[in-house]
Amino acid sequence: MDLTKLFGCKVFGDEAMRENLSREVYESLKRTQDTGLPLEENIAAAVAEGMKDWAVSHGATHYTHWFQPLTNITAGKHDSFIEPAGNGKIILEFSPKALIKGEPDASSFPSGGLRATFEARGYTAWDPTSPAFVRDGTLYIPTAFYSYTGEALDQKTPLLRSMEALNKQCLRLLRLLGNTKTNYVTPTVGAEQEYFLIDRDAYEQRLDLKICGRTLLGSRPPKGQELDDHYCGRIRLRVAEYMRALDEELWSLGVSSKTKHNEVAPAQHELAPVFDSANVACDHNQLTMEVMRVVAKQQGLACLLHEKPFAGINGSGKHNNYSLCTDDGLNLLASSKDPEENLHFLLMLAAFVSAVDQYADLLRASAASAGNDHRLGGFEAPPAIISIFLGENLTQSLCAAGNGGGCGKEEHKMLKTGVSTLPDLVKDDSDRNRTSPFAFTGNKFEFRMLGSSQSIAFTNTVLNCALADVFEDFCKRLEKAGDIRHEIRAIIADVVKEHGRIIFNGNNYSQAWVEEAKKRGLPILNTSLDAFECLLDQKNIDLFSRQGVFTPVECSSRYEILLENYIHVVSIEAATMLEMVRRQIYPALVRYAGEVARSVNEMKTAGVSAWSSTKHLHSLNDIIDQIDSEIEGVREAYVRSHSIENIREHALYLRDVLKVRMDSLRTACDAAETITDDQYWPIPSYTDILLRV
Ligand code: ADP
Ligand code: MG
Repeated sequence: MDLTKLFGCKVFGDEAMRENLSREVYESLKRTQDTGLPLEENIAAAVAEGMKDWAVSHGATHYTHWFQPLTNITAGKHDSFIEPAGNGKIILEFSPKALIKGEPDASSFPSGGLRATFEARGYTAWDPTSPAFVRDGTLYIPTAFYSYTGEALDQKTPLLRSMEALNKQCLRLLRLLGNTKTNYVTPTVGAEQEYFLIDRDAYEQRLDLKICGRTLLGSRPPKGQELDDHYCGRIRLRVAEYMRALDEELWSLGVSSKTKHNEVAPAQHELAPVFDSANVACDHNQLTMEVMRVVAKQQGLACLLHEKPFAGINGSGKHNNYSLCTDDGLNLLASSKDPEENLHFLLMLAAFVSAVDQYADLLRASAASAGNDHRLGGFEAPPAIISIFLGENLTQSLCAAGNGGGCGKEEHKMLKTGVSTLPDLVKDDSDRNRTSPFAFTGNKFEFRMLGSSQSIAFTNTVLNCALADVFEDFCKRLEKAGDIRHEIRAIIADVVKEHGRIIFNGNNYSQAWVEEAKKRGLPILNTSLDAFECLLDQKNIDLFSRQGVFTPVECSSRYEILLENYIHVVSIEAATMLEMVRRQIYPALVRYAGEVARSVNEMKTAGVSAWSSTKHLHSLNDIIDQIDSEIEGVREAYVRSHSIENIREHALYLRDVLKVRMDSLRTACDAAETITDDQYWPIPSYTDILLRV
């Protein structure tokens, strides 16, 4: 297999564009893709024609406007290229209008209140900056999705808006720093994706896995991850075969899957791609998750992307690696030996420190979901408190750069430290702290809070937007300043003073950090419901409005969608649990207890005391009664929750009452599992699932 030929063979990428478009059209489209310039309208017809010819030659009969509603998965309806040509014949047609604009019904997707006030009509608009591709006989055209009145109903629209805001302010800043060459700044993202891979039969036998993506019941296996023998260990044959097929499919779709390895928990693995622009990285991550599920099914496996499929062992996250790169090849987060350039690098770091401190709540919210609540703060993932790790040396350089403001001598000290020691020392430091939610790792930041099933779009939207805003503030100061270098140092000093509290280089898993964070006044938003509230904060609404990323109406609609999603997820879990316990677990226990009772009788008839089996029967009877009353507790809370009209109160009731009762029902069932004959237990156990593949 020639990998260079396989890579991107199903993508309408550079080569396909060259072959199927005229030179003029190719160059125009390329300009839009590479530099964010608006698309020239008159080229759409030629692009549509070229794209269709290429797609048909790659087996496509249909096209779809592929979009990302606020559901964490993607959507699109498929239309064939056929048009009647009279006399019972057809021709294949793809009009520029069909390329540029689609009209799915918006009413069946989450819109968070927008639906009540506005029409159901929704539009999709072609995003020419993310390449189209052919999959299973359909041409996929990445699109943005918005309502009749222009409100964003998807992940992509705000992400693209935030990338534009960021480019504008960052470019303005670069000019002030004397950069005349850069034309465009792109946030670059590499999303490391964790997942579980289990046997399909086991999966099919568990309603909780099929419906909720996670186990709602299950006692701990005798062996979990205690021996640390899975992480980066030998990849078993069946898994290796899966990874091979997955890579091949991803490569053909132009997704640059790069790294694969076993993760910490049994049956857990990771895939990391080479970074790309935030927009393409987001599309590719969605595609990766979809392909992961499909390939697993093809191979008799199931890929679990839930944040916490199994209690008692690690859950899965997604690391969002982020940097800012320019069209002329600069990474703005790369330190430099050149003192002047390094000062600019430190200014960039200061911008991150300021942005993350001011909008820590939004970043936290961007990683919040019912699923991720099981993970954050569980000593396997960062705690729910946002902080930045820079490492001691870089922190010192930043402070020194600030302290040097206006004083020649100290300025020298700052530059010397920054220049001669940075590269190596940063490397050492970044490896040491795996507990920080937002860590500097050499020439990029790594945000480690995201859940494995979440879209990375909102996180990157928040980052872009907050940075754009901070850059704008920096620019305003620098534009007024007489001495630019002096002002840069003054800005850094102010950032350290006002926002230095967000820097923490210690162990984020320790209780001491929680206490320390409280003292520093950092937001501690333990559950997703606490975090969602920040979308209604005036400071955040103002940020999004200023940068043109979300209107106030869009902010409140996102808030409602997040709450609604939380309510649906928890309610579905409760209903699934009730179904499993009432129709599988409880009857199985009664059957088993009956069997034990018969044995006890037989033993007594045979003249033995049957002392321990009688005791066992009593234990079973007790746990059956307990489960019965716990079922009633869950059922009662579930029914009651439906009568709560206010969605915020509804969600809080689920978190504070229903989930607590579900936990006790689970505890009772898990205890029952440990004393029940394996033959009678109606669903595969943790051991069956985790050690089978
Ligand atoms: P680590 O082992 O520290 O997690 P890796 O070198 O394995 O770091 O990279 C992890 C991810 O970071 C990869 O997806 C990689 O492509 C991405 N990455 C590397 N450089 C950048 C960058 N400049 N911008 C965004 N992502 C990057
Ligand atoms: Mg990493």
